[in-house]
This record gives sequence, C-alpha cells and structure tokens, in this order.
Amino acid sequence: MINRLVIIGVGLIGSSLALSLKQKKYVKTVIGCGRSEDNLKKGIELGVLDDYELSISKAIKGADVVVVAVPLGAMDSVFKQMYSALDQATIITDVGSAKATVLRDAQNSLGEHFKQFVPGHPIAGSENSGVEAGFSSLYQDRKVILTPVKDTNNEAVSIIENMWKETGALVELMSVEHHDKVLAATSHLPHMLAFSLVSHLSKMSDQDEIFNYAAGGFRDFTRIASSDPVMWRDICMANGDALLELISGFKNELDQIANAIKEQNPQALFELFRDSKHTRDQLRDL
Ligand code: NAP
Repeated sequence: MINRLVIIGVGLIGSSLALSLKQKKYVKTVIGCGRSEDNLKKGIELGVLDDYELSISKAIKGADVVVVAVPLGAMDSVFKQMYSALDQATIITDVGSAKATVLRDAQNSLGEHFKQFVPGHPIAGSENSGVEAGFSSLYQDRKVILTPVKDTNNEAVSIIENMWKETGALVELMSVEHHDKVLAATSHLPHMLAFSLVSHLSKMSDQDEIFNYAAGGFRDFTRIASSDPVMWRDICMANGDALLELISGFKNELDQIANAIKEQNPQALFELFRDSKHTRDQLRDL
C-alpha cells in the first residue's frame, strides 16, 4: 500500500490512476499538484484528490511515490523543481508517451535521485483531457510499459509494477529504444494520419458539405484528431526520428495506391486491401 501518493499534472492519466488506486484502497492519501487551482479543486470535488499543493516542492515532501503526468515538454522543468525537495526514499515515475527524452530529462535533472526514477507509459487513454475526463477503470486489462535502465533501483521498479497491477493493468518491461519505435508505429503515426486528414479536408473550399456527409468510417478514423494539441506537439518533438521514418514509409504506401489508380491496376489495389483486411481481422480483440 502507498501512504502518500503525489500526482503532478492531474489530467486524464493522473486522475484515472488516483481514482483506481483509491477505489482499490491501495493508497492512503493522494495529493495533487498543478498550475491551475481550479483544476485541483475540481479534483477534490470529484474524489480524485484528498488535498493539493500549487508548489511542487511542498507537494512532494514525504511522498512515497510521485507520478509525473504532465505533457512531455514540461517534464524537465518539473524534475528540476522536484530535485531539492525529494526525500531519499521517494520513488518517482512518469506516464509520458515517449521515453527517450523523459529519461534524458530525468538523468539531467534528478541527480542522485535518478536511480529512484522508473519510466513508465500506460497504453491506455482517450482524446479527452483534464481531471474531469478521468475514470477508475481506464487501466483495466490495458498494458503498462516500464522502461527501467541499468541504474534503476530494482525495488523501485517492483513498487511501480505493483502499483499498476493494482489498477488491473498488465505490466511489461521493455527497453526505451524498443518502446519508442513500437509506439511510434502503433500510436504516434495513427495520430498524425488523423490530424492530417482532418486538416486536409478542413482546407477544402466545400468543407461544410464534406463534413455534413461524414459517417461512421470518418468518425472512427478521426476521433483521435480531437486529442490535446500540446500533448501531440510534444510527442512529435520527442519521438521525431522514429516518426519521420514511419511517415516516409507511409507516404510510399499512399503512392502505391495512387499509382495503382493511375495505372488502372485493380489487381494491385485488391491485393493491398485484401492483405490489410487479413492483418486487421487478426486484431479484432484490440
Ligand atoms: P491532460 O489531461 O492534459 O493532463 C495533463 C496535466 O498536466 C494537466 O491537468 C495540467 O494541469 C498539467 N500540465 C499541462 N501543461 C503543463 C506544464 N507546462 N507544466 C506543468 N503542468 C502542466 O493530459 P493527459 O492525457 O493526462 O497526459 C498526461 C501525460 O500522459 C502526457 O505526458 C501524455 O504523453 C501521457 N499519456 C497520455 C495518454 C492519453 O491518451 N491522453 C496516454 C498515455 C500517456 P495544470 O493545468 O493544472 O497544470
């Protein structure tokens, strides 16, 4: 059981974790910390938080576990503000969607506390953000990836692993490099496709007419284009190399479709669609 859990950045991911751990009675006190007092007050109203602090150094005093759940671009500044107030025994983890830059920031800014830092990423979420978007079952049967490095304290890894397991999540350990490559393909690229499709259509002169007739396929494909722009800007900046390689491969794939249409080659189109359908059909349980 965790005595004092501090969530820095009480949005969808942080509040869902707090709600789940409170429901399971795995945590005694949850302290929220963030820039917006209204958001933190809302967190108390919704039963996500027991108390809050606007100052990071005050919030983390005496914490058993600190979860940093802010956008990737804000991680370094948060780690720097934490440094001088951290207790030796406090365990720190994060939930950032790309891991290499978080690890670099933690290494640069947490000093001797770096060994207590367990990088993490729940593979669960939605296009909604803020404390009101949180719900206790978000992590049930979802994967959480931890990417500890050789300096990471094993006991800290076990404590974070157990914390996530308590939410119903399935925890896996992975290297940072592998994580960033895999997530670029399965999460980051699809978001780029959704954002770019909506952007492209919205610039067409008859956009109102187009969106009027948008149906299920459009809705399914573009739901994630409603995701938070700050979060996605930061993910692109953090995982740029892996993403650029995938964008280039995807452009080739689109070119193949364009060429098959230009060359009036129905067989090439059929084969591409058949193979994709076959692959997607295997993933029905997603
Ligand atoms: P969110 O709902 O927008 O919550 C983020 C919280 O961080 C906000 O409540 C905000 O609170 C605080 N914050 C925002 N900018 C900040 C800044 N510059 N400095 C300090 N605090 C800041 O976002 P989220 O979806 O929970 O995402 C949080 C993290 O989880 C991100 O790193 C994201 O990559 C990762 N993640 C997201 C998903 C997803 O599907 N959404 C899935 C897995 C992982 P205040 O305004 O009060 O400061």
